[in-house]
Amino acid sequence: MLEDEKGEGSALAIETSGLTRVYKVGPHDVLALRGVSLTVDAGCFVALKGRSGSGKTTLLNCIGGLDRPTAGSVSIFGRELLKMSERELTRWRREQVGFVFQSFALLPTLSAFENVELMPRMAGRRRRECNQRTESSLDLVGLRKWMHHRPYEMSGGQQQRVAIARALANGPRLILADEPTGELDSSTARDILGIFQRIVREQQVTVLMVSHDSLVDEFADRVYHLADGQIID
Ligand code: ADP
Ligand code: MG
Repeated sequence: MLEDEKGEGSALAIETSGLTRVYKVGPHDVLALRGVSLTVDAGCFVALKGRSGSGKTTLLNCIGGLDRPTAGSVSIFGRELLKMSERELTRWRREQVGFVFQSFALLPTLSAFENVELMPRMAGRRRRECNQRTESSLDLVGLRKWMHHRPYEMSGGQQQRVAIARALANGPRLILADEPTGELDSSTARDILGIFQRIVREQQVTVLMVSHDSLVDEFADRVYHLADGQIID
C-alpha cells in the first residue's frame, strides 16, 4: 500500500490544472497541451473528443503517469502525480490505473486468461488471487468461455474485451482508454461502449475515454472537446 492518502474520500477522480506539454522536435517546440484544466468526478464515464493531433493521447498519458507534463499539475483521487518518484509512480499505475488501447496490445502467444493474469501477477499477488481476479474480470466482459483461446482465434471485439478484462484485473479506480473503438465496426463499438458504461455503474470505476466516434455521446456522462491542446466548450 502506498503511504500518503489514498484519497478514498475524494469525489474528484481527476483534476488537472494548467497542464502543459511541450515536445522538442529538433529546434522547434511542439505545444501539445496548452494549459489544460479539467476535472472528472469519481464514478463517471467521461469522453474526450478532438481531431487527430489535438493532444488527446498526450493528455491521457499525463493523467496516467506515462508521460510527465512540462508544467501544471495532475491530481488523481487527491494524489499529486508530479510529487511521486518514478518508483512510486510505476507502482501507483499498476495498482490504481487500467489502460486500454486502440490496438488491443495483447500478447499473441498467450491465451486470454494468461494475458489478463499477467497484471495481478506483475503486481505480486498470490496465485489463487490471480486466478480469481482473472476469472472474475473475464466474466465481467462475458468471455469466460473464451479464456483458453489466443488473440488470433478471436474477433476484434473479443480481443478488446480481453484488453478491458486485463485493465480491470487489479481492481483499478480509474480506467484510461485511448480510442478503444477505433478499429471496430459500429455495432461492435457499441458493444464495447456498453461494457465500459456497465463497468462504471457496477464496479465504481471512473472511465476517461479518448474517442472521435460520435457513438460515444450516447454512452458517456460527459464529453470534453480538445482543440490545439486546449479544452473548448
Ligand atoms: P491526438 O492523440 O489528439 O492525435 P497527440 O497527443 O498524439 O494528439 O499529439 C499532439 C501533438 O503533439 C501533435 O502535434 C503531435 O504531432 C505532437 N506529438 C505527440 N507526441 C509527440 C512526440 N513524442 N514527439 C514530438 N511530438 C509529439
Ligand atoms: Mg491519439
